[in-house]
Amino acid sequence: MKTSGRSVRCGLVGNIQGYSTEDGPGIRTTVFLMGCPLRCRWCSNPEFLKPEPVTMVFGNGQQRVGEWMSPDTLTERLLRDRIFYEESDGGVTFSGGEAASQAEFVLACARLLHKEGIHVCLDTSGCCDARSFSALLSGVDLVLFDLKAADPMLHKALTGRDNAQILENLSILGASRIPWRLRLVVVPGCNDARTDLELRLQTAAGLANPPEAVDVLLYHSLGEGKYAALGLPYSLHAVPAPDPGLKEWVQDRARALGLQPGWFG
Ligand code: SF4
Repeated sequence: MKTSGRSVRCGLVGNIQGYSTEDGPGIRTTVFLMGCPLRCRWCSNPEFLKPEPVTMVFGNGQQRVGEWMSPDTLTERLLRDRIFYEESDGGVTFSGGEAASQAEFVLACARLLHKEGIHVCLDTSGCCDARSFSALLSGVDLVLFDLKAADPMLHKALTGRDNAQILENLSILGASRIPWRLRLVVVPGCNDARTDLELRLQTAAGLANPPEAVDVLLYHSLGEGKYAALGLPYSLHAVPAPDPGLKEWVQDRARALGLQPGWFG
């Protein structure tokens, strides 16, 4: 393996998960990076929110989360799964937390992976400064853009921040030639109003470089136990049942706007 050459600071890696099938095409290894500027009420990965190592306490056991790794060390580890990438047209996905909050590190790793012919995907909320976002686009093959809400006030109420910077980055992506997919994480009672979903779809469809597909991911409460392990409150206990016709409605609206419905999980 060639090394990164110029020295790039280490990145803080929360987890490396092999055999992922929902984080991009084929079989992928997903790298969860530590640190996220948002605080989505439904976040299922609260252990990756802080930009520093954390300790989770389960009963009498403890689990440390967060390991500093150089781009070379991480890439060596990711190349162990090469056989899966090659046999499935898969690759590596950088997620989090917010992968874009460690943009320089992700870029350095992406360059090393590209030298090995590995496909690289960025899974992002788009919440980072425009300079970092543009730089990242120059180094990845596919972007999964998770737009939480179109309405700025709703976005702020659900995540702690409005979406002005996120929409600016979305317009940068929409003016680029980078393939991307719109991800809609739908949380009943939070961001499942059809008016806001319609706005998100229309915003994406109106871009010069529209998404190649729209993926809908329904909320799950799998992260709930992690909040207790971190000593954090969990505020989303009574989530109503999802609107049974919503997936079909999103599919229909996506098609009507000239977009391709994608994965529905
Ligand atoms: S952007 Fe992702 S990692 Fe960050 S708070 Fe929201 S769901 Fe959690």
